[in-house]
Amino acid sequence: MTIEVVLLDGLNCPMIRCDVCGKTINKQSDGIYCWDLSKNKEGKGIVPYFAHHNASAVGNRCHDALEAGFAKYTLGWSHLSELFQMLQANVPTSK
Ligand SMILES: [Zn+2]
Repeated sequence: MTIEVVLLDGLNCPMIRCDVCGKTINKQSDGIYCWDLSKNKEGKGIVPYFAHHNASAVGNRCHDALEAGFAKYTLGWSHLSELFQMLQANVPTSK
């Protein structure tokens, strides 16, 4: 998981970097966050992964590559556009 603040034109810009290709995810609609369901235990935190998804430049390549590293159906994921709303309200995702 990589969230960083980058100084661009004198402005501090928070950015999320794809854990697969290392490039920034520039639009919420181009990214997802994922978590390993096999480590999903009640009350225990899981560090999420970030990946490009539906990005015009990379398609689903990063999401597919990330998923290939896990057994079938063990990688939960949700749209990046939902992450900050859920963090703000502390709303759980589906199980
Ligand atoms: Zn990527």
